[in-house]
Amino acid sequence: MMFAKSFTTPLRRLATLLLSCAAVASAQAATITIVNQNAPGVGFNDPTPVTPVGGNPGTTLGQQRLLAFQHAADIWGATLTSKVPIRIGASFVPLSCTENSAVLGSAGANEIWSDFTNAPRPGTWYPSALASKLAGTDVSTPGEPHIIARFNSRLGLFPDCLPGPGFYLGFDRNAGAAIDLVTVLLHEMAHGLGFQTFTDDETGAEILGVPSIWDYYLVDNRTERPWVDMTDAERVASAISGNGLSWNGPIVTAAVPQVLDPRSRLTVGGSAAGGAAGNYDVGDASFGPPLGATPVTGQLMPVVEAANALGQACTPLDALNALAVRGNIALVSRGTCPFVDKARNVQAAGAIGMVVADNAPGDPTGMSGADPSITIPSVRVTQAAGASLLGALQSRSRTRSGVVASLGIDPARLAGTDTRRRILMYTPTVNAPGSSVSHYTTEAKPNQLMEPSINSDLTHEVTPPRDLTYPLLQDIGW
Ligand SMILES: [Zn+2]
Repeated sequence: MMFAKSFTTPLRRLATLLLSCAAVASAQAATITIVNQNAPGVGFNDPTPVTPVGGNPGTTLGQQRLLAFQHAADIWGATLTSKVPIRIGASFVPLSCTENSAVLGSAGANEIWSDFTNAPRPGTWYPSALASKLAGTDVSTPGEPHIIARFNSRLGLFPDCLPGPGFYLGFDRNAGAAIDLVTVLLHEMAHGLGFQTFTDDETGAEILGVPSIWDYYLVDNRTERPWVDMTDAERVASAISGNGLSWNGPIVTAAVPQVLDPRSRLTVGGSAAGGAAGNYDVGDASFGPPLGATPVTGQLMPVVEAANALGQACTPLDALNALAVRGNIALVSRGTCPFVDKARNVQAAGAIGMVVADNAPGDPTGMSGADPSITIPSVRVTQAAGASLLGALQSRSRTRSGVVASLGIDPARLAGTDTRRRILMYTPTVNAPGSSVSHYTTEAKPNQLMEPSINSDLTHEVTPPRDLTYPLLQDIGW
């Protein structure tokens, strides 16, 4: 049975986030061919002259784009095994964008198949490229590519499409402020190879009542029931559960301990800590040093800019605040200015670490921004945690609070995993159509290729010990 449709999954990048078919077939590889679907003069055929960059020898914009596609395709080709050549129908076309955000590209399976020759599970959708591998013969409709990929031809253009350097077309990851196209391609190709469910993440409905191979491994980590055994309504609820869905595939789970680092945490103690003593979940910062096995420990001292309220540290600290945080860990409020501004200001005053208390309810999430001059660690805690901590600081002197904070790690918990050490999936409490469920959590450390946004610290690796993308594809049959 076949169902034709493009199952593309868009990849967005926010301005503030930091998101030649030469391969030869053999038993240890797969051949991936790029099928240029652009019209003459545009996209892959754009004749604009360019200078070779970062190992990409192309001399026109179109040629460089095509060579970057083939570079990424060759990385996947060297990783996967299949006797059946994989065809990616690709184009650069205008996609939706604004001043602050843009769809970088989208890709997915062009066709899905069930009950083909040698199908491991009956009554189950497989993406066309995987079905062909498993069948040992090309199952796709003649003339149809296995994967469809569209990329944004306008990215970086002033004034309306995330103005800036746009895509970096080199192969050496030296993207600077630009967006590394090869990284984005590796991500999008993974969707097309099967890193996606075909079940609707907004309605919970299966296509023609048939589950996807994905749905056998996507498990509710509170009830231990997989998506394939749930009703539509149960799938909808789990898709917006926060951290309620995990990947329960044996190959991914075996690789998790060698790929993911321990979770960061804030530990609070000391003679004045009272009810605020204990361990706190935190969000990590993309700037400053990562938290490590040796914690950074000091007196927790608030920045105060108005009575009975936590200050924001958006400007250089005055003398009293500077005295308070010097040699100590500064507690500041989120708001008004970028996180890196706060870190720069408390660091300049002599603080050895920073705790940012949220200014709105919610789970602790990360802090974006980049500034190589920041050398102190920072974490973000919830608004409730911030209130509790500030309450414990009321009897402080000008230089001491009697509340001791430690910024460190929890060796018992890996970042982005559930209590059974399985990686969490991306299930924000407000559904993000096409992104929810078909990506890994944003809480993984180090950042993973298949998170919903592209982070600047990604490599071109798709395998352990750096990345968990290929293990998931192996779980579904690659
Ligand atoms: Zn994606």
